[in-house]
Amino acid sequence: MSENIFEDAISRLDKACKESDIYPEAIEQLKHPKQVLEVSVPVRMDDGSLKVFKGFRIRHMDFRGPTKGGIRFHPNVNREEVLALAFWMSFKCAVVGIPYGGAKGGVCVDPKSLSRLELERLSRSYVERIADFIGPDLDIPAPDVYTNAMVMGWMMDEYSMIRRKRTPSVITGKPIPLGGSLGRDDATGRGAYYCIKEMEKENAWNPKEITVSVQGFGNAGQHVARLLFADGYKIVGISDSQGGIFLEEGFDVPSIIQMKEESKQVKAVYCKGSVCETIDAKHISNQELLELDVDILIPSALENQITAENAPKIRAKTIVEVANGPVNSEADSILLEHGIEIIPDILANAGGVVVSYYEWLQNRSGQYWQEEQVHQKLRETMSDSFQKVLTMQKRKHLDMRTAAYVCALDAIGESIAAGGTMEYFTNMI
Ligand code: NAD
Repeated sequence: MSENIFEDAISRLDKACKESDIYPEAIEQLKHPKQVLEVSVPVRMDDGSLKVFKGFRIRHMDFRGPTKGGIRFHPNVNREEVLALAFWMSFKCAVVGIPYGGAKGGVCVDPKSLSRLELERLSRSYVERIADFIGPDLDIPAPDVYTNAMVMGWMMDEYSMIRRKRTPSVITGKPIPLGGSLGRDDATGRGAYYCIKEMEKENAWNPKEITVSVQGFGNAGQHVARLLFADGYKIVGISDSQGGIFLEEGFDVPSIIQMKEESKQVKAVYCKGSVCETIDAKHISNQELLELDVDILIPSALENQITAENAPKIRAKTIVEVANGPVNSEADSILLEHGIEIIPDILANAGGVVVSYYEWLQNRSGQYWQEEQVHQKLRETMSDSFQKVLTMQKRKHLDMRTAAYVCALDAIGESIAAGGTMEYFTNMI
């Protein structure tokens, strides 16, 4: 993991600022997080011993509303990474027009090494440490890598016990019976799918002729693969942390999802009813998967997967960034030179935070929506945001990422300016 991931994120801000009318003083504020909290998270292990894990919660900016962002449990979690992820959340919320600023949290832990009871104790202990930093009008966490709906449910329960009142709107991505929203589970993958559908219209693609590879087969990766497969796209490469598989004629995605659930591995299988058989597929490394000659590459795992080192070898025509920060800024320039289109993370994976916003609205109003309503509203939001970014790209002759940042900067700049700028206070306007 690059130690300079936050600096790398800032370099993109600098590039976009040249194209935006945002006030310089606003830019300066965006380069620094509003609040950084580092905590130690003690957990009683099953064998009776006590372990202490390092955790973070960082609020980047709250000009547009309370802060929002996921919680990650991963051995690589560190301050710089959480800071970059919080920063990206601010721009993501702004580009899709939802009234939040960005935040992120995480615990440096290998969750796969914990028992279920240890995982629950860790989740509760982390919330106990950050409880004064979060709240429905302050900062609202959600799931991220290796955290899921059940973890969110434990966290909401712990927060409610601390506050001595049921507070579902403190966290999103909860199980449905605990106040979760229908349509939240697949929202990130679905949001990316709606972006691809806009690309399909723009480029008059025939899905049956479009090949796709997906790196990372967790929540986000599985859903985008499933939805594209249902439309006829050919998913030829899939990987997870243990490696990848390739099949030229394309995989039967639902079968692979079923096997991944059962065996915790990505295996090439074909299922008919409940009968599944392993089929011949080439085993490939994650690096090979990234370098496949496909129409669409969907990185859905972690950041910094495509860097200056492997960017020259990327053969995909379009990259849809479902993961946060999978392409670093050095790689950006190389890919652009090679004519590779990138649908940037702050747009492509915004579906999750959009439906998290719907969940928060439902928790606060006490009225719950049908799944169809969630899908329809998400589709409108993603399609409108995609078109807004595309219009900016064409108007200013930018790449998609810079165009998305300029759209976000315009929205953030308006909120900051509404509170007064140097020009206003020195009576120059
Ligand atoms: P997840 O934990 O459900 O899945 C992560 C997947 O990545 C797993 O299949 C894991 O095996 C795989 N993986 C881990 N390391 C890998 C590696 N080195 N190479 C290939 N695969 C690897 O996580 P998720 O929620 O699907 O998140 C994936 C990405 O999407 C992250 O970057 C996350 O920040 C981003 N994201 C998620 C959401 C959401 O709502 N879940 C929203 C926005 C963005």
